[in-house]
Amino acid sequence: IKKIAVLTSGGDAPGMNAALRAVVLAAEHYGLQVLAFRHGYKGLLENDAVPLVAQDVLHILQYSGTIIKSARCPEFKTDEAAKKAAENLQNNDIDALVVIGGDGSFRGAEHLSHHWNGQIIGVPGTIDNDLYGTDATIGFATAVSIAMDALDKIRDTAEAMDRVFIVEVMGREAGFIGLSSTMASGAERMILPELQREKPLTIAALVKHIERVKKVRGESSYVMVLSEHQWPGGAVALAEQLEAEYHLPCRPCLLGHIQRGGSPAAADRILAAQLGVYAIELALQGETLVMSGIQGNKAVATPLPDTWQIDKPLDPNLVHIQHRVFNPVKKNGDA
Ligand code: ADP
Repeated sequence: IKKIAVLTSGGDAPGMNAALRAVVLAAEHYGLQVLAFRHGYKGLLENDAVPLVAQDVLHILQYSGTIIKSARCPEFKTDEAAKKAAENLQNNDIDALVVIGGDGSFRGAEHLSHHWNGQIIGVPGTIDNDLYGTDATIGFATAVSIAMDALDKIRDTAEAMDRVFIVEVMGREAGFIGLSSTMASGAERMILPELQREKPLTIAALVKHIERVKKVRGESSYVMVLSEHQWPGGAVALAEQLEAEYHLPCRPCLLGHIQRGGSPAAADRILAAQLGVYAIELALQGETLVMSGIQGNKAVATPLPDTWQIDKPLDPNLVHIQHRVFNPVKKNGDA
């Protein structure tokens, strides 16, 4: 192969720039040319492309976001769009396309493969860590570290004012950010999609837990991590409910898109280097429709559909530690 294309698609993630840098440097190392499509699949449809060389990407790894831009492109789901994309790839003499993004972007890649014969390699770039086939996704470590910093700050004011706080974090349908930021900050409670699917938390059980923690531990503050979409109306509604119905002074805090910005954590920059370079090596080996991932320190290729079809569970030991070991023992009848 002689020429590859690269794009960043879907929700941006810290470390996407570092992954782009790695892809371009690896391509140059192996004598391949690189064409970047801007704004994800939108640019692929509009043939909005720029050639990239090492000089363009050397000093971008310390910034979040993506210099080639990302976008959502709903019309890419049609056959006409995939055909148009295939045409543009052919006209640009592209042998392999590297897609840096999350599960939606990988579904898009699979869709494209029905209309294009070139190779497609995925690089997992999402803060959610919700892709099977890699221990971590690029952006996850940074998002957790941002949430942890916020939770530390919230603890200061919660302690001072004897308050309950609810901090809402991202994660789509997965609780990885919620679990890791809870563990890293010592929050008293986590409300995560995986746990809610197993046994939804009732407000009465939550209030009992708050009271037990205060009584048994003598704690004056109580900090709870709420994954997005896991309470009707989110953190704001839950805080209002606790104040109105149970007279608990409670404040919500929505971290939102702050979780995606700033300086990528070292772990994400290094992961991006490994996954970006391995993506190019997979292309050179003739692989297609696989994701470049890391499992237990080893680079592993996983078929793209597996990445969103196979469930990636939370670490049961971390859940056990948080729920059983770190919590005051339940009394009979308590939820
Ligand atoms: P992420 O990659 O972060 O999960 P999205 O779910 O928004 O982000 O998906 C990014 C883009 O991938 C979509 O805007 C769309 O262009 C494309 N895409 C997602 N799902 C499909 C699909 N089933 N078929 C074709 N394209 C898709």
